[in-house]
Amino acid sequence: MSTETALRTIEHHIGGELTAGDSARTSVVWDPATGEPQAHVLLAEPSDVDRAVKAAKRAAPEWSDSSLARRGRVMFAFRELLDRHIDELARLIACEHGKVVEDAKGEISRGLEVVEFACGLAHLLKGEYSEQVSSGVDAHSFRQPLGVCVGITPFNFPAMVPMWMHPVAIAAGNTFVLKPSERDPSAANFVADLYREAGLPDGVFNVVHGDKVAVDALLDHQDVAAVSFVGSTPVARYIHERASSRGKRVQALGGAKNHAVVMPDADLEYTANQLTAAGFGSAGQRCMAISVVVTVGNVADPLMERLAAKAREIKVGPGLDPESEMGPLVTAEARDRILRYIAQGVDAGARAPVDGRELEPSGGGFFVGPTLFDHVKTDMSIYTDEIFGPVLSTVRVDSLADAISLINENSFANGTAIFTSSGHAARRFERDVHVGMVGINVPIPVPMAYYSFGGWKDSLFGDHHIHGPEGFRFYTRAKAVTTRWPEGPSTAGGDLHFPTSV
Ligand code: NAD
Repeated sequence: MSTETALRTIEHHIGGELTAGDSARTSVVWDPATGEPQAHVLLAEPSDVDRAVKAAKRAAPEWSDSSLARRGRVMFAFRELLDRHIDELARLIACEHGKVVEDAKGEISRGLEVVEFACGLAHLLKGEYSEQVSSGVDAHSFRQPLGVCVGITPFNFPAMVPMWMHPVAIAAGNTFVLKPSERDPSAANFVADLYREAGLPDGVFNVVHGDKVAVDALLDHQDVAAVSFVGSTPVARYIHERASSRGKRVQALGGAKNHAVVMPDADLEYTANQLTAAGFGSAGQRCMAISVVVTVGNVADPLMERLAAKAREIKVGPGLDPESEMGPLVTAEARDRILRYIAQGVDAGARAPVDGRELEPSGGGFFVGPTLFDHVKTDMSIYTDEIFGPVLSTVRVDSLADAISLINENSFANGTAIFTSSGHAARRFERDVHVGMVGINVPIPVPMAYYSFGGWKDSLFGDHHIHGPEGFRFYTRAKAVTTRWPEGPSTAGGDLHFPTSV
């Protein structure tokens, strides 16, 4: 038997059961640390997607009718199970994504916080009531679930990003179909098992694995009410257009090119540590990674010296090795794309005090070392494109106004940060920058679960940010009720004109 055929197959999780359905096509799941295939994941056909949506649709009436108390208990149980299994899930993520185990635990913890937020569903789903809005008339409003909601998610946070969606959707009384990334699909099935153990009825949470075929079938399915997407900008734009044209509610979060401005009055040692972690953590494969450092005035030289020294010290190795600080890229394709960008940056004339191509990793994993560019110009591809790897580009400007203009001219607007000891500069930056999430001396300003997460411009299509209060709004629709209880026979309403309040 060849190695290829001996690999395990990752199946769909539909209606509480693992199933291959009609899927005959598969995709390889690689071990990024060794460069070897480790599994095959099934790629759903439209008939498999239909089965998953039907399972979710069948489960919807009972789940949406379940009491808030029952939903809350399931969420609490799910939270406890997730917490108990955090090590196991983190290792699973490290094996398929490549990130180091501690980093994987970090993403699960941030996902867990969304589950904790969703445990407050009884409070979050409270409606509004006004008595005596007109004589003898009261009014109230409340929000109801949408039905079957879909999540389509990227490879870089296989646990956290789906958890921005499904705990909120399910707590709000919806049922859910998740289509995770085909590059690291196992975390989704792991979570499906935990939901079952937590007492979630079968069919409320389903997983279909797949590629564009599965995504298109979900976007076109008449029984899907809402689509949440997180991934690259071209796909986000496509998802938003296609699902909107089918009449669905859509939120589609796209890519990023996050700038960090460093003012001359910043604490340099602190700033260099923060930027190193934000630029190279998870090998730069974070939507909130810092990929551009904007130095203002004379801070550039001393900062570059520190950044270069710290980048050279990073221990690159397999995600499962506790000594590793940075793992490999997710696939050979991702590694090769990043190597091409580094070559383009050097060819275009940027200086590379640290060049990740010089790393010589043992084994055949998809490694690229941390790379630091200086004197980057805005027409270079390393500046214009989202690289999504361990590459930090430095652009030198003269003033805070120049830094803000630079950021505002960029089409991506996910996150940004400023490092300064001036409250005035920080306040001006916070107010004037056209970006959805801002950090003041915080490089990766991912909002807490009880705020909402979302960028502006090409980093988000749709008008709702994800999780937090906006998540509950996205996954529910409002109903307003006007009530009159006349006492005995009443003559009110006898005329034909539009009713006014009296
Ligand atoms: P991707 O866009 O390639 O894939 C995301 C999802 O879309 C996957 O499930 C994939 O199977 C599916 N998909 C891919 N191509 C498709 C197509 N042509 N038609 C339909 N579906 C398709 O993204 P990725 O490489 O998995 O993840 C990295 C990207 O995600 C980066 O651009 C990163 O910035 C972005 N991201 C953004 C956020 C955010 O919050 N804004 C968070 C995480 C990741």
